[in-house]
Amino acid sequence: MSSLGDDLFASRKKPLPYLIAEIKKHQEKASKFISKTESNKQTSINNSKDLPNNATIRREYIDCGKLDCQWVHGPYYYAYWKDEDGKLHKKYIGKYLPASIKNE
Ligand SMILES: [Zn+2]
Repeated sequence: MSSLGDDLFASRKKPLPYLIAEIKKHQEKASKFISKTESNKQTSINNSKDLPNNATIRREYIDCGKLDCQWVHGPYYYAYWKDEDGKLHKKYIGKYLPASIKNE
């Protein structure tokens, strides 16, 4: 017969293979998150490569237009600029603001 304390300890103690599987799951989640973040950053860098010098960067939240959507999407970065004809242009940059345009 074990004491109550031992039983509590035993109930919290999970088998090692289970714990290892849990840790692996978290590691996979973390590395997926990191690679997604990295690819999002790369997208922002690519999208901001050919921006004109007079572009203004704005941070915006998006309404996706779905009636049943409760989420606020964003923020995303957009570049705005006017061409020679005074026409306003807008370009999606991405979720991240690349360091190369941050300091301009
Ligand atoms: Zn939405």
